[in-house]
Amino acid sequence: MGKNSIIDNLFYDNKKGSLLYKGTRYLLIRPETIIGFLKAVEESLKDEAGEKFYLGGFRGGFFSTKRYKEIHNFSDKEIIEFMMKMGAEIGWGKFSLMRYEPKENILEVSVENSPFAIFYGRSDKGVCHLIRGVISGMATALFGKDCQAEEISCIAKGDNRCVFVVRKNC
Ligand SMILES: [Zn+2]
Repeated sequence: MGKNSIIDNLFYDNKKGSLLYKGTRYLLIRPETIIGFLKAVEESLKDEAGEKFYLGGFRGGFFSTKRYKEIHNFSDKEIIEFMMKMGAEIGWGKFSLMRYEPKENILEVSVENSPFAIFYGRSDKGVCHLIRGVISGMATALFGKDCQAEEISCIAKGDNRCVFVVRKNC
C-alpha cells in the first residue's frame, strides 16, 4: 500500500460521523452510486446531465485550488502538483500534468484508471464530467478567468486514458 497524505491526515469525528481533511469535509462514496445518479439524470436531461455533474466538479476544483493554495502557501505550479497528487489519493485515478503554459492559459492533464469511465461502461463521448469540472475549476482559479476543459480522450470511448485540455487563452 502506498503512502497517502490525504488519508493519513483525515480526521474522523465519530460523534458526528464526519471525515475532515484540514477542516474540509470529505465523504467516501462508491462509483456505482455516482454513475447510477448520472445515468438516472441522463434519462431525463440527456447531455445536459453531464453539464450538471461538470458544475459540481467545477465547484469542488475551484474551491480546493483556492483553499489549499492559500493554506499551504503554494505557487501555481505547486498547487497543480498538489491537486494531481490529491486526485490519486482520493481514488479518482492517476493524474499527470502533461502541459502547463501559464502565459497562454494552457493546461493539459491526463488521468489513468478513472473510476467514472470504468463504472460507466462504453460511450461515444467522454463521461468523466466530475474530473473535467475539477480541472476547469482549477484552471479558472489559476488563470483568473472562466476556463472550460474538454475531455478529448476517455477510457469509456476505448482510449487508454482520459485527457483533459484547457485550450489556449481559454
Ligand atoms: Zn474519461
